[in-house]
Order: sequence, then C-alpha cells, then structure tokens
Amino acid sequence: MNTRRDFLQQSVIALGATALPQFALAQGAGSWYDRPMRWAQLTLVEDDPGQYDLQFWLDYFKRTHSDAACVSAGGCVAYYPTKVPLHYRSKFLGNRDCFGELVSGCRKLRMNVIARTDPHAAHEDVYEAHPDWIAVTEEGKKRRHWADPELWVTCALGPYNFEFMTAVTREIVEMYKVDGIFSNRWSGSGMCYCEHCTRNFKVFSGLDLPRTNNPLNEARRQYIIWRQQRLFELWRLWDGEVRKINPNASFIANAGGGALSDLDMKTIGELAPTIFADRQARRGLMPPWMNGKNGKEYVATMGRKAIAGIFSVGVEEPYRWKDSVQNSEEIRLWVMDGTAHNLRPWFTKFNGKVIDRRWLKTVEDLYEWHFRNERYLRNERSLAEVAMVYSQQTATFYGGDQARAKVEDHSLGFYQALIEARVPFDMVHDQLLDAEHLKNYRTLILPNIAALSDRQCQQITGFVERGGNLIATHETSLYNEWGQRRKDFGLASLFGATFDGRLESGIHNSYLNIEKDSRTGEFHPIVHGLEDATRIINGVQWVHVKPRDAFARAPLTLVPSYPDLPMEQVWARVPHTDIPGVFARQIGRSRVVYFPFDLDRTFWEVLSEDHLKVLQNSVKWAHLEEQPLTVTGRGVLDLSLWKQQSSITVHLVNLTNPMMMKGPVREVIPLTEQRVRIRLPRGSRTKAVRFLVSGKSPVWKETDGFVTATVPSIELHEVIALDLG
Ligand SMILES: [Zn+2]
Repeated sequence: MNTRRDFLQQSVIALGATALPQFALAQGAGSWYDRPMRWAQLTLVEDDPGQYDLQFWLDYFKRTHSDAACVSAGGCVAYYPTKVPLHYRSKFLGNRDCFGELVSGCRKLRMNVIARTDPHAAHEDVYEAHPDWIAVTEEGKKRRHWADPELWVTCALGPYNFEFMTAVTREIVEMYKVDGIFSNRWSGSGMCYCEHCTRNFKVFSGLDLPRTNNPLNEARRQYIIWRQQRLFELWRLWDGEVRKINPNASFIANAGGGALSDLDMKTIGELAPTIFADRQARRGLMPPWMNGKNGKEYVATMGRKAIAGIFSVGVEEPYRWKDSVQNSEEIRLWVMDGTAHNLRPWFTKFNGKVIDRRWLKTVEDLYEWHFRNERYLRNERSLAEVAMVYSQQTATFYGGDQARAKVEDHSLGFYQALIEARVPFDMVHDQLLDAEHLKNYRTLILPNIAALSDRQCQQITGFVERGGNLIATHETSLYNEWGQRRKDFGLASLFGATFDGRLESGIHNSYLNIEKDSRTGEFHPIVHGLEDATRIINGVQWVHVKPRDAFARAPLTLVPSYPDLPMEQVWARVPHTDIPGVFARQIGRSRVVYFPFDLDRTFWEVLSEDHLKVLQNSVKWAHLEEQPLTVTGRGVLDLSLWKQQSSITVHLVNLTNPMMMKGPVREVIPLTEQRVRIRLPRGSRTKAVRFLVSGKSPVWKETDGFVTATVPSIELHEVIALDLG
C-alpha cells in the first residue's frame, strides 16, 4: 500500500539531497523528527581524524538504511575547526574538518544529522583560564576526571555550560545547520560545591548546599528542586539558541528513563520533540525485557513522538570495555525487545576505527528487516488495557539513596509477573494520572507507589469511580509527594484498610494461610492454583493495617514470624490469625486489590512461583474482562499490541532462554506453537494477516471482533501484522 509518506519519501529520493528541507516542511508540522526510523551514531575518539575510514561508515549507513546520524562534534574534544576560545581541538585534526565531512557525507545519503556534544570534561587550559568552571568536591577540592586524570570534571550548573557550551552549541548550528544538538553527560557528575553552585543555591533557597542525601532534609529537598530547575533552564537556553539559528532544529538532551531517572519525565515529554532512550545493553543481573520497559517508560510521557532506543554493540559492564562487542544473539534480543515497545533502533559505536567487526552484519540484518517492515512499525498507540504506574517522585523523595530497593524492585517484580502472565501492558507516569491519560486503561497497578499527593490520590480515586480497577502493594499512598508519612493511606477508602502505625521489615519465616471464604466456603480466585498449598511464604516487609469495615475472611491471612533456628523451635506459635494478607474488594463496577506487604518486591528477590500465581490471579480477577491480546503456548514471551494508521501489530519476543535473567544469551531456543487471539478495534475488519519475520502466510479467522491465528514456531521474535479494512 502506498501511503502519503511513501509518496513523499519517493519524491525526495527523486529530487535528491537538496530536497530535504522541503520534505521536512511538506510533512506538515515543519519538522523532521518523526521521519527517521533507524539511527546510526558514530562517537569519534580523539585520534580518529585522519585515521578512520569515512567512506566505510557512509557505506555502512547506506547499507543499513539509516535515516539519521548522530556524530561527534565538540565539547570535550572538537572535531571541526572551532573558533570558540578554549574549545579543545583534537590534536589529530590538523586542517581537517572531520565533523563537516561526516555531515556532508550523511546529507548526500539524505540523512538527518545531529551533532553530539559532551561537556562533562575539560582540559588543563580551561582549568587555568577559568578554575571556577570546574566541579568541586564536598571537601572543597577541584575534581580531576575519575577515568582520565589529565582532564577535569566540569560544573554543569555554572558558566561552563551556560556560557561556554552555549557558544559551542551556537557555533556548530551556525556552521553546519544541523538538525539538532544531542548532548551527552550534560547534567553533571554528582554534587558540585563550586562557588557558583554555592551562591546560586543560596539565592534560590537561602540555604547552604546540602551535605546529606536524605530527601527529608530541607536543604536536600530544595537542592533537588533547584538542580532540576537549573537543568531545564539550561535545556531551554540551548534549545532557544539552536532554534534562533535553525528553526527546524532542537537541543535534545540525553535524559530521562524510569523512576530512577533524575529529571522529570513529564517536563521532558513537553520539551523534547523527539528523544533518545539511552539504555545500551544488559549488565549484571538484568532480564532482556528491561529494554522494552525502557521503551514503555518513555512512551508514557512522549506519547506519539518518535523515540529512538540507543543500543550499544559493546559490552556495558562496569569495567567499560568500550572497544569490544557483544555477541550477535544478545544484540538482536535487546534490540527486538525495544522494537516491540516502540523504540526505533539507534546503534552506537565508539571509535571510528573498527577493531572487532563481528557486530556489523548483525546490525545490518536487523536494520534490513526493520526497513522492509517499516510501515508496520510506525505505531500510533498501544492497545494495552493494563498500565503500571512509575513514580520518580516516590523514588526521589521516599526512596532516596535506597530507591532501587524500596521502589524499583517492586516494579521489577510486578513487571516480571506480567511478562510471565503474558498480559499486554503499558507504563504510566505518576504525573499523568488524569482522566485523559488513563482513558484507555481498565486496570492500574501501583507497585509500592508510596509518595502520592492528595491530587494524585483524587485522580486515582476518580479512575476507580469511572469503573477502573486497581491493584496496589505495600506502602502505596502512605506518604505525600515529599515523602512525608501520612497518618493513613491517601487511598485508605479504596483499599478498605487503615494504617495502624507499624511497619515491619526483614521478617523471617512468616507465611500466608490460604483461606476459604467463610460465607461461601469457596476459595477466592486470587488464590487459584494454591488451594492445596495450605500456606505459602509471606513477603519480608509488612504494613500493619486494620480493615475499615467487616468483610468475609481474606483469601490470604498472616501467619506471624516464628523462630527459624534451632530447628527444634521451628513451629508456628500462632498458626492462624484473621489478619488479612490481601484486601480484594468490589466497589461499584470496579475491583480493588491491596496487598499490605512487599509481595512484588519479594517476588523479584525470591521468584517464588506461589507469589507469581497470586500476582497473576490478582490482575486476572481485577481486570475481569478478556485482555485484548491472548497468546497461549509454552515459554516466556514479551508481547505488545500496537495500532498503526491502517494496521495492528502484535510483537512476540521470545525470552525463553537459560540466559534470560543474565545475559548474554548464547543461542536462541525456538518456541513451539503459540495460539494468538487479538481483539480488533470497534468497527474494524481484517483484510490480511502476515507474519513479518517468518514470512509465512498464516491460517487465520475472524469471529466476533477477534482474530485468531496459530504461530507454528518462533525463533527470536515474530510480528503478526493485521491489515485493517
Ligand atoms: Zn558547581
């Protein structure tokens, strides 16, 4: 099918390179940001000029159908003949204009080009001319660079960025009319106690810079607010300067991510015309779905705007072997999981001189497939009806230094359970809980979203009043937006539970009894599959609560901790209580499930199948209706369901692998037959069904608004495309 976009793209090709600005305008919005589907990034090292093979890279960009490139320009090292004083030129540059050659080469390939800057480190002459531009430690010492002691770490919040890097930014856009500036490590390298930060913070808050990380400390809290304001001020300054010179260009920061990222994603979603999600590869213990999670978190605040997922072909462990590469299957799995969740692939390679060439074919094959199926990858919206909330506010003000354990581990546990349950779901940002942003969701999950404002609690209550379902765990809503504990949950009336003032952690050897409903004599669906277990393990952190009103015995009740040694003493002192381990309620049309303990976090730590069953059952019971996508078969699949202009795609990424929880994967283990059932948007009919990976034509049928098909096997991934009539 020929879309208007295809037509425009073909006319551009016919007109040649000079047509690009007109093409950008012809798109309607006057912008290029939604055009690139595949990105290439070449981050030069200082000795690349004169030594790396320019033509090799241009050929590679062409072979990979890369629509846009991000290329090193300046900051720490300039790769062009800069005239900005103190802007350090590569000592290998000579009379060359290494950046300029790349820009014009890419333009001949009709690529968009953005310039990469990196302001986080400076040379000795900068230090000598402007010692106040250098970051200062808590002890008052200027900071040497941790990895290269010949360099200095710069202060991100002072004149180095606001004046010097503004001049660099302006010069690059003036000289090359690039489509944007992408800045890496622009937001500082930890706390800075320099004279500018000290003075500016004092003016802002009347306080001295904090010397504690405790977010309940007033200076710390003010610092978090001030730093964020300052960085967004810098973002707006650079963006304004860029647009003055080229109205179709922007400053695009390397910023954002999930709950643990430190710049507000909602503001980023408003500022950025497109964004580049920088999670390059797995490290340590990390499942491959983490790239998809990254995609979902960006979609939550970027909406329909294009999001490129930066993946490294290198090894991302802490020892930073930047010149080596990952094995092919690992790269493919990571990229395809991102693609399933709306990340447009962006490969990044450091060092223009290719040492290990094994990644080249892998990325070329990935990009070739992506190019051929591009029209099925321009997603308009996800069709998922379950959403999991993530909260930077909770991580910052409640989690503080322990945000990973206190906040993120809850999300990871619930995420893993939803993956295993094969439930299609999105992520939602806690600042976007208004009716409009939640209108497509039936069930909202709050994995220990502890810090919520009164307004956010009202929004969540509104969601339930409109018929939405809710699942919450642990300390959800027990704190206000500043991480200060409330007397009671902000959502107490929904939970049907009141905080009784006690929190317990590190609980050993405690259990949950599986109970029948005292009125009906039946087991509740939340304990389905556990009827013969008698009792299952508890979590390890418990919020003591009182039921707000009398209701039937809870499906799970607490067996309090008892000695786990000596073995002779390991017997339950109190084998039965009526203390609920879950509050499962029907409120009007809505269902609300609240677990007063860290079920999700403990699941992430211990991965008990019993906990998995309870989490999955709770989603099934709360959601009530059939999910818009059901995939039945064996194995672990990450799935997603997207609507494009005139099609629907189902992504099935095969995570079944002995190296699932810790890469790199060695080989892909194919999945056996999967039966797929997809709900069509109201009023749509299916014209054709295609498997975009195997290329096979499936047997399918449409009945009562659902399409069913069988996928005989899946290697790494399969994408089922439904052309709608
Ligand atoms: Zn500073």
